[in-house]
Amino acid sequence: MEEKVKADLKEIFGFSQFRGNQELIVDNLLNKRNTFVIMPTGAGKSLCYQLPAVIQEGTAIVISPLIALMKNQVDQLQALGINAHFLNSTLNKSEANRVKSEVLSKKTKLLYVAPESLTKEENVAFLKSAELSFVAIDEAHCISEWGHDFRPEYRRIKSIIAQIAPNLPIIALTATATPKVQQDIQRNLQMEEADLFKSSFNRTNLFYEIRPKVKNDSKKDLIKFIKGHKGKSGIIYCLSRKKVEEIAQLLVVNQVNAAPYHAGLDSSVRIKTQDDFLNEELDVIVATIAFGMGIDKPDVRYVIHYDVPKSLEGYYQETGRAGRDGLEGHCLMFYRYEDIVKLDKFNKDKPVTERENAKILLQEMAAYSETGVCRRKFILNYFGETMNDDCGFCDNCKRDRKTFEGMDKVSTVLEAAQQTNERFGLEHLVNVIIGESTDYVLSYSHDKLPVFAKGKEDTEKTWIGVIRQVMILNMLEKDIESYGVLKLTPKGKDFLEAPFEIELHYDHDFAAEVQNGQAEIDISSRIAYDEKLFELLKSERKKVARAKGLPPYI
Ligand code: ADP
Ligand code: MG
Ligand code: ZN
Repeated sequence: MEEKVKADLKEIFGFSQFRGNQELIVDNLLNKRNTFVIMPTGAGKSLCYQLPAVIQEGTAIVISPLIALMKNQVDQLQALGINAHFLNSTLNKSEANRVKSEVLSKKTKLLYVAPESLTKEENVAFLKSAELSFVAIDEAHCISEWGHDFRPEYRRIKSIIAQIAPNLPIIALTATATPKVQQDIQRNLQMEEADLFKSSFNRTNLFYEIRPKVKNDSKKDLIKFIKGHKGKSGIIYCLSRKKVEEIAQLLVVNQVNAAPYHAGLDSSVRIKTQDDFLNEELDVIVATIAFGMGIDKPDVRYVIHYDVPKSLEGYYQETGRAGRDGLEGHCLMFYRYEDIVKLDKFNKDKPVTERENAKILLQEMAAYSETGVCRRKFILNYFGETMNDDCGFCDNCKRDRKTFEGMDKVSTVLEAAQQTNERFGLEHLVNVIIGESTDYVLSYSHDKLPVFAKGKEDTEKTWIGVIRQVMILNMLEKDIESYGVLKLTPKGKDFLEAPFEIELHYDHDFAAEVQNGQAEIDISSRIAYDEKLFELLKSERKKVARAKGLPPYI
């Protein structure tokens, strides 16, 4: 059995080995088990459902959020000689009917649908009469309101599947790894019992850097950066269509081979831009987050966030599009706190809980941007992974960081959590420590606690920074069930018993850094990918593609 699957992998996809958990996942699905896959962008999630779909009887339904993404995958599959189709709003009636009759004649192995098409009554009826193998839900974080691109239609998928064929195995896949998103997805799909396959999120070849955003200076900086990567592929993300147009124009005026991409452009223009980028006729795409999901260009050398994204999940997915070939990718973000404030204001007419959720995500984004801690450590912690040593390969690790001895402060934080019976979230803990008698604090009579006002000599910002680091040290953890409440871990309890010296980092003070000229770090010496290897890999890829008759970017 195992050997057979390996042979199929080689024969159908031309790969000689599975990557990471792929083989276990394929087996699991072939055994008709509900399967939940969390794997970083670029790790090879598609294969986990494509291979079982091809080697089983019947048609697999693949639910996918974007038309461009479906097209990209179906093109690739068809080029491999696999009978795959999509059903979405771009098809006219007769095209849709042709696809349906292929499915009903049992030829189609994979049928890609958008949730909006899946929920259409006529399609439900049609799928009821088809022979199906399983349902794959790609980009499953779209189900979760904690995911960065939440789509309400996604929440109806489970009930539709129940109508079509209640016992079909389901595989859900996402690159969003936060425990709260995971829980939300599993609940919504009623697959708490599913087998979970979670891979490490560490992308060791990506260099993370954050620069303060300063009017005009940052634009010059951006142009300089891109000119320094002449002829290389890059993606620049901006928040609004207007900004996308503006930055794209700025680059074009500066002789950069760039084009804009956003949902306001005609779909034929978008497809052309995307194809040009994949075919290397275009170096730089300036885009809103409408671009890139599932787009598989291996040699994107940099991803720039000119505006701060709405969440760390989004940031990590978007930066994950760099360096899929394993060579270095540079992930640069221009940050200022005002952008966070602006984003929060955009949400002001949203329902309260939605706005509060969005705000929490934004605050986490700000915390990451301002942290002095190794960025990889920070972000992996956010995704529920522990990293013991600093990575040495992010801007903070490359910087001469100021640190301070933190034993007393860590103790204070842990005492505060303990004395408030582990029922306080970050904000209220800070208030206790700095001695702010808010109504909330008073309602617990915590001004009588020994720890009350123990940290009044330091600022609120300092304490927020310390608490976050205590969490990264795995001494405090957020209780997902009662959101935001910080609880002591066994490691935290041990520390209270036997404290030890501990080095903590100051958060960035970007305004001061800009003023003192300390914001820049010299990275020129370490843009380290091997140019020859890069060219070699690229020409190899092209050779393979040519031999298979595939487009050059595959
Ligand atoms: P994800 O959906 O996780 O972001 P993809 O499914 O788009 O990732 O895969 C990323 C790339 O990895 C694709 O180019 C794919 O062909 C390649 N890939 C997947 N599995 C393997 C494998 N076992 N061996 C070699 N390449 C693989
Ligand atoms: Mg994918
Ligand atoms: Zn680091």
